[in-house]
Amino acid sequence: MDHDKREPWAVQVGAEKILAAEDMRDYAIFALDADGHVASWNEGAERLKGYTSDEVIGSHFSRFYPPEQIAAGYPDWELQQASEDGFFIDRGWRVRKDGSRYWAHVVIAAQRTPDGELDGFIKVVRNESEASARVERTRRRLADLFELAPSGIALLDADGWFLDANGALCDLLGYRLDDLVGRRDLDLLDPTDTGGGLVNGDTRSTGDLLVPHRVLARSDGTPVPCQVRAAASIRDDGSRSWLITFHDITEQLARAMTLRHQATHDELTGLLNRRGFQERLADLLPPDKPGSVAVLFCDLHNFKRINDALGHEAGDELLSAVAERLLAGLPPRCEVARFYGDEFVILCRDLDGDADLEAVTESVAELFRMTVPLRRRHVQVTASIGVKAVEDRNVDVVSLLRSAESAMLDARVRGQTLRGNDHDQLALEEELREAIAGEEIDLHYQPVVDNDGTVVIAEALLRWTHPELGPLTPDVVLAIASRGGMLAELDTCVLRTALREAMTWRRIDGGGAVKVAVNLSGLRPEQPGFADVVRSVLAETGAAPEDLVLEMVETVFAQLEPEQRQEMNDLVADGVQFAVDDFGTGYSSLAVLKELPTQIIKLDRMFVSGVGTDPDDLGIARAMTELARTLGRMCIAEGVETSTQHQLLRAVSVDAYQGYYFSRPVPAEEFRRYLAG
Ligand code: C2E
Ligand code: CA
Ligand code: CA
Repeated sequence: MDHDKREPWAVQVGAEKILAAEDMRDYAIFALDADGHVASWNEGAERLKGYTSDEVIGSHFSRFYPPEQIAAGYPDWELQQASEDGFFIDRGWRVRKDGSRYWAHVVIAAQRTPDGELDGFIKVVRNESEASARVERTRRRLADLFELAPSGIALLDADGWFLDANGALCDLLGYRLDDLVGRRDLDLLDPTDTGGGLVNGDTRSTGDLLVPHRVLARSDGTPVPCQVRAAASIRDDGSRSWLITFHDITEQLARAMTLRHQATHDELTGLLNRRGFQERLADLLPPDKPGSVAVLFCDLHNFKRINDALGHEAGDELLSAVAERLLAGLPPRCEVARFYGDEFVILCRDLDGDADLEAVTESVAELFRMTVPLRRRHVQVTASIGVKAVEDRNVDVVSLLRSAESAMLDARVRGQTLRGNDHDQLALEEELREAIAGEEIDLHYQPVVDNDGTVVIAEALLRWTHPELGPLTPDVVLAIASRGGMLAELDTCVLRTALREAMTWRRIDGGGAVKVAVNLSGLRPEQPGFADVVRSVLAETGAAPEDLVLEMVETVFAQLEPEQRQEMNDLVADGVQFAVDDFGTGYSSLAVLKELPTQIIKLDRMFVSGVGTDPDDLGIARAMTELARTLGRMCIAEGVETSTQHQLLRAVSVDAYQGYYFSRPVPAEEFRRYLAG
C-alpha cells in the first residue's frame, strides 16, 4: 500500500469543494461521523460500491474493507491518521456489496467544528482498477521483455554486485540466475580483459557508457566477447544501480576477421597478398639493426608458358604446390606472400649479417627447385630471386619492394640467384639497342629433320652475349626489347642475319634447299608495311622467298581479322611460308586455323614431352597430325628429346622433328659443319 502524504492536489482541494462536485460521477463521496458511521452517500458512491443510501447510512464504514484488513484494524487506523494529520491518502483493495474487489484511491479529510472538535470525515474514493491493471500490465510486459530480450541484461548495484539478470545473460555466461546473483562484475571478466569493473569510474561520472569490446568468461572459462552498455538507474530505496546490456559480438568479430583476412591474403594459396605483406613489412621498419630485415623477391621461370600450355587450372595447381612447399620449408623467421601471378615475396627478419642472409637465400632458392607432377607431366620449377636487405633507416616499404623486384630482374637477366645492386634497366635497354644497331646479336640454329633424316629447315634462335653479364637467353633479351619498345628492330635484325648466314651455308652445301625459320614477335602481319620489310630484307641479302619460314605463335595469327591477312597472303604468293609456333598452347579454333594462310604447324614441346609416358599426349599428337594433314599443312613436332618420342611420333605420321635428340641449337659455324657432315 502506498502512503503518500505529500501528494499536492489533495492538500489544495478542501472537503467542501469535493462535496460540491456532485457531478464527479466517477467519485464515491460520502461523509462519516466521528466514529466512522456513514452519514451521507452520493450517487457515485452508490454506483461504485453497489449500496443505496438507505442500505448504508448509519452503518460502519469498515464494511467496505476486505476481511483481513478489518481483522487488522486497518479502517480505524486510517481514520486515526486522518484525524491526526487532517487528511489521509491511501491506495488499496476495497469490497463492493456483491463481494467483488476493486483497487481504490482514497482521500480521507477530517472535519472539525469551529472550536476544533472532531466532527466526522469526508471520504472521496476513486476506482483505479483500470489504471492499476494498466500499470501492472506494463510492469509485466517489461518483465517479459527483460526475459525475452536476445541480449543479456543485468542489474548491478553501485559496487558491481549482480542483483538480477535475464535468461539471455544466464545462457550467454552459462550460469543459473541464483549463481549469478551475488557475484561481482570483476568475477565474470576473462583474464584477457584488463578494462576493470563494468561499472567503473567512467560510468559513475557520465551515467551512461558504451564499451564496444569487453571480454567476459563463461562459467566453463570460454571467453565471450561482448559489447557492453551501462546506464545508471535509481532503485526504489534511492540507491544507485546500473542497468547493463551485454551483446555477444563473437560472430561480428569472426566476420570482421574474415573480411580482414580476405583483404590481406591471396585467395588461391592462402598466403599473404601484397597488402598483407606491406603491412607486415611496415611493422618491421625501421629494423633494430641494419641488415636484420630483408626482402626476397622471387619470380618463377616459365610460368606463363606452363599456364598457356596446360591451362589456368594447372597453372593454379602449380602455384598452390609452390606455396605449400614454401610454407612447409621456410625457416620460422621468414614469411611468404604471393603478389601477382607467379611472384612470391619473402620477408626475413632477425638476420645476422651478410653470411646469414646468403644462407637463407640459398635455402629459399633450394625450396624453389622442385618438380611438380601436373597433368601426368613433371614440370620443373625454378625461380629468379632478387634480394634486398634493409640497410637504410629511412627506407619505405614501396621503394624497398621496388629495389627487391629490380634485383630479381637483374638476377633473371644473369640467369642465377645473386645479390644485386639496383640494376639500371635503362642502361640494359640502351646496350641492347646498340647491339641491334651493330648487329651483335648472335644466332644459333637448330635443324628440323624430316622422315628421311634430311634437314629441311634451320630455326634461328637468338643469343646475346652481354659484355658484363655474359650470355643471355632469348626470353630475357625479348623482355628487355619489349620494355624498350624495340621488338620489331630486334626481329628485323635477326631476319637479316639469318638470311645472310643461310646464304653462306647454302653455297657450301651446294644448293640443297634448307629453309631458314625466323621467329617474329615485334614484326606483325597486321602492321602496314609488314610485307615490304620482309621483301626488302630478302632483296638486301639476296635470299629467295622460298628460303624463308616465318614463325609466329598461334595467338598472333588468331587475332588477325580477315582483311589484316592481306600482307601475309602477298608474301605467301611470293613463296614465303608461315608456321604456327607453339601450337596447342593458344586454344585456337579449328575454323581459324583452317582459314589462316599458314603452311606449317609446330606442335608445342609441352605435348611432345609426354609422348611415350602419357597416352593423352600421343593422342593429341595424332589428332594434330591428322588435322594438319586434313588442312594440307606440314606438321613439325618440337622438343623431341628421345628416340622413343621420335618412333612414336613417326608412327602417328608427324612430317618432321626438331629437338635435342637431333641437335641442340648451335652457332652458325657449327651448323654449317653439321650440314656438311
Ligand atoms: P621456340 O620458337 O619454341 O624455340 C624453340 C626453343 O626450344 C628454343 O629455346 C630451343 O632451344 C628449345 N628446344 C629445342 N629443342 C629442344 C628440346 O629437345 N628440348 C627442350 N627442352 N627444348 C628444346 P630458346 O632458344 O631458349 O628460345 C626460346 C624462345 O624464344 C623461342 O621458342 C622463341 O619463342 C623465342 N625466340 C628465340 N629466338 C628468337 C628470335 O630471334 N626472335 C624472336 N622474336 N623470338 C625468339
Ligand atoms: Ca619457334
Ligand atoms: Ca616453338
